[in-house]
Amino acid sequence: MMLNCDSLWLGANLVTLRNGCYHIIEDGALAVNAGRIVWLGAHADMPEIHAERVTHFGGGIITPGLIDCHTHLVFGGNRSHEFEQRLNGASYADIAAQGGGILSTVNATRQADHDSLLHSALARLRPLLSEGVTTIEIKSGYGLDVAAELKMLRVIRALAQQQPVHVVSTCLAAHAIPPEYRGQPDAWIEQACQSLLPAVAQEHLADAVDAFCEHLAFSPQHVERLFTAAQALGLPVKLHAEQLSSLHGSELAARFQALSADHLEYATEQDVAAMAAAGTVAVLLPGAYYLLRETQCPPVELFRRYGVPMAIASDCNPGTSPALSLRLMLNMACTLFRFTPEEALAGVTLHAARALGLQDSHGSLEVGKVADFVHWPLAHPAELVYWLGGQLPCTTIFRGEPR
Ligand SMILES: [Zn+2]
Repeated sequence: MMLNCDSLWLGANLVTLRNGCYHIIEDGALAVNAGRIVWLGAHADMPEIHAERVTHFGGGIITPGLIDCHTHLVFGGNRSHEFEQRLNGASYADIAAQGGGILSTVNATRQADHDSLLHSALARLRPLLSEGVTTIEIKSGYGLDVAAELKMLRVIRALAQQQPVHVVSTCLAAHAIPPEYRGQPDAWIEQACQSLLPAVAQEHLADAVDAFCEHLAFSPQHVERLFTAAQALGLPVKLHAEQLSSLHGSELAARFQALSADHLEYATEQDVAAMAAAGTVAVLLPGAYYLLRETQCPPVELFRRYGVPMAIASDCNPGTSPALSLRLMLNMACTLFRFTPEEALAGVTLHAARALGLQDSHGSLEVGKVADFVHWPLAHPAELVYWLGGQLPCTTIFRGEPR
C-alpha cells in the first residue's frame, strides 16, 4: 500500500535516541505528515511512499531536535559588571551591599516593559536555536511580585509566537525572597498561593510551578505549601534542590510526583531512591557548577544505579550560568560530571522531554512523535559532544518544516 506524506528525508544515518540510547539506523529514511513522523527505518526497508517533497542529505546524521529543559532566559539587564567586580577582588557581601546579586536582576526586570524583555530574550534565544534547539523551557522568578511575575510569563508565552520553537513556561515565583518580604518568606508564599497561582492558571500562563529550596531561599515547608496549591490548580511541579546543601528537597519533590528535581549536587541515596520510585528526572546543570567553581559533583553513579533519567540544560541565567550554548553543556557534562556522550545526548533529547512531561510527543525519532529533528554533517553523534563551543553547521526541521 502506498503511503502518502508531506515530506521524506533521505541520505543520513538516524540517531533515534529511542529509550535514551543512540539506536542508529544506517542510511535511514524518515517520512513526515502533518508535522508528525509517520515512518522511519532503513532506506532499504522503506515501503512505497509518495512525498510532496523529498530531501536527500548525501551523508551526515539526523538527531531529534535538542531540548533545553531548564532556563531563566527572560530577564532585565545582565550581571557582567558583577562578574568583573568579583574577579577584581570584590566579595559577594560587597556586591550585595551595593544592591547586586539576584535583587539587581529583580530590579531591572521590574523596570523593563514587555517589549524590552521580549527583545533581550530573543537575542539570547537565537544562538540556542541556531544550534538545533527546538524546545525550550523558560522560568519566571525575577519579578517576585504578582504583576511582574505575570509580565514575565506573558513575555515567555509571546516568545513562542516570535520564533519557530516550542516554549514551555514555568512559574518560579519562589525563586528568591522578594525585598518587600525580607524576613517573612511565609507571607510571600501565601501571596503566591492565593493571588499569583490562580491568576496564572486562569490565563494559562504556565505549564508547571517551580521553587528554589535552599537555606538562602525557601524551606521544604514553604515548598510543600506552594506545591499543594499548584497541584490543586492542576499544575505539575519541579524543584531547584540540593544545589548548595542537603535539605532533601528532591525527596519532597518526588513525593509530589515532580517532573524533575534540578541541580542535585548534594542529593543523597535516599533522595535518589525517592526520585527513582516517582519517575522524577534529575536535571543537571554543569554551567552553574562551572561558573560557581563548585567541587561537589552530583551523584551520577547513584542516578545510574537507580535508573533515574538524567537531563542536561543550559540554566541560562544572568548570575550563575550566562550560557548561550546547550552543546557546550554536553561537553561540560562529560568533562565535569563524567557523563558518556550517549548519556549527554539523551540528556538534551529524550530525558529532557521527560523533564517537561513531553516524553510521549518529543525527544526521540519515533513514529507518532512531533517531527522536530536536526541534520548535522557529522559522521558520529559523539562529535556533537566533543567539539568545544563554536558553531557546527546544521539544518533544523521544526514540526516538519525547515526552519
Ligand atoms: Zn535554575
